[in-house]
Amino acid sequence: MPAARSDIDIAREARKLPIGEVAARLGIPDDALVPFGRDKAKLAPDFVRSLGQRPSGKLILVTAVNPTPAGEGKSTTTIGLGDALVRIGRRAAICLREPSLGPCFGQKGGATGSGMAQVVPMEEINLHFTGDFHAITAAHNLLAAMIDNHVYWGNAEKIDSRRIVWRRVLDMNDRALRDIVTSLGGPANGYPREAGFDITVASEVMAILCLAEDLADLERRLGEIVIAYRVDRSPVFARDIGATGAMAALLKDAVLPNLVQTIENNPAFVHGGPFANIAHGCNSVVATKTALRLADYVVTEAGFGADLGAEKFFDIKCRQAGLQPAACVIVATVRSAKMNGGVAKADLAAEDVEAVRRGAANLGRHIENVRAFGVPVVVAINHFATDTAAEIEVLREFVAARGAEGILCRHWAQGSAGAVELAEKVAALADGGTARFEPLYPDDMPLYAKIETVVKRVYRGVAVTAERGVLAQLADFEARGYGRLPVCMAKTPYSFSADPELLGAPEGFGVHVREVRLAAGAGFVVALCGEVLTMPGLPRRPAAERIRLDGSGRIEGLF
Ligand code: ADP
Repeated sequence: MPAARSDIDIAREARKLPIGEVAARLGIPDDALVPFGRDKAKLAPDFVRSLGQRPSGKLILVTAVNPTPAGEGKSTTTIGLGDALVRIGRRAAICLREPSLGPCFGQKGGATGSGMAQVVPMEEINLHFTGDFHAITAAHNLLAAMIDNHVYWGNAEKIDSRRIVWRRVLDMNDRALRDIVTSLGGPANGYPREAGFDITVASEVMAILCLAEDLADLERRLGEIVIAYRVDRSPVFARDIGATGAMAALLKDAVLPNLVQTIENNPAFVHGGPFANIAHGCNSVVATKTALRLADYVVTEAGFGADLGAEKFFDIKCRQAGLQPAACVIVATVRSAKMNGGVAKADLAAEDVEAVRRGAANLGRHIENVRAFGVPVVVAINHFATDTAAEIEVLREFVAARGAEGILCRHWAQGSAGAVELAEKVAALADGGTARFEPLYPDDMPLYAKIETVVKRVYRGVAVTAERGVLAQLADFEARGYGRLPVCMAKTPYSFSADPELLGAPEGFGVHVREVRLAAGAGFVVALCGEVLTMPGLPRRPAAERIRLDGSGRIEGLF
């Protein structure tokens, strides 16, 4: 039984194929691969470019209900569905985000799927992988170093050092670095100022790498980054201090998609990993488009629940990249329905049909929301061993009453065999051609109205309020030509509202916008609603305490 084995044990027992054989399943020739060892590769830039004119396969988004500590299983379902599509004879590929190092050493839990639905080599994907995040960290910090250096050597751009907005990054959970003072130690070290670190996945460079179409677009976007403001409040850009070329040079390999395999030897692109709160939370456009040109069906996921993840996938990624999703899978679990219905985590194993019924309201709203984008929906009920037949039936009936299908999936325990019914339904939906995708709001809607549209139509809040200065700042962004950008909402993932305690399908709440930030390179305006941490801390007993090497140099304790 898989339940008796840890994810890392299952991953290690996988009979991996040489990466060239996995690539061949998508018709990728050997000379198009830049191998990283035996089981990982990047795709060569010439090959990626050569795919440009090919027709596109069908894009399938996997999203979920609002996350609870019970775990929903978006990555696991993305992988299980990809494997199952191949099992029923379809040419399919998977697109996932790359894991961040920080959470690996914090809370236990990986980002490479789980049970019998995983991508491998999981230890390497979860740790250094092909070095993309290190390259992003280096490019980001090069810009930071060049800013202080610019000020040190005469400050030709007249940067107001109190208004430098570009922080430093590190791919680690380290709360001690959230707010710091730099340049201490005398005149030779520059001008002391308040600064701080974010985690690498929160870097705008990460968001840029994930939204760029190609190297030229990457370089253009890097140049657009606002690094600081002058005393007259005009913005200073990365291009103004000559940083863009060197940043692009550091990123030239990181921008290429990484290919790995599932434990069933099917191709998976794992590339890019922006935060799903202050950024858009999806894998790279380059990987998604590459996969779409090589496969007939591409299954991808977006972070958190559909209120944040799917909305940003549609309104930011699909809008910017011109992608047309064909179908959407919403992952739901009996356990998360129970938690949304008010059951405490400790009591989740006991049957509670009424709580499932109450909590399913959360799922119901996500179904309506995804449909509002013109994308057809199927619900994947990700089976946990503690689910009872009566609870599953309630969930299924709830979904059926909303005109969709709730399909019980056992890919965690059984791999592709457990998700065949889901795969058949998803393929039929995608082939049916019923999707009429439209973003939620047009480009030319004013920025504040865009925020209101998301809050009222997706979250179902009644009103938006804003901190003093927010409206003036949005007007300033519009005056500088950024009014056509989409908004990137940063709020708690646990509720439709900005209050993490309001579970289920809350009504009558307002949402307060605390701050807005311009991500001119990424191409969105971030609206921060509530506390959002951009540098996480480690828990009292971090997973790092349990991770070690065994006598033969193998990693133990990583999931
Ligand atoms: P998400 O992508 O939504 O964050 P993951 O797919 O990474 O979720 O799964 C989160 C965790 O939930 C996994 O590490 C695994 O421990 C657990 N999990 C997911 N699906 C199942 C399942 N069907 N049975 C048991 N545990 C599961």
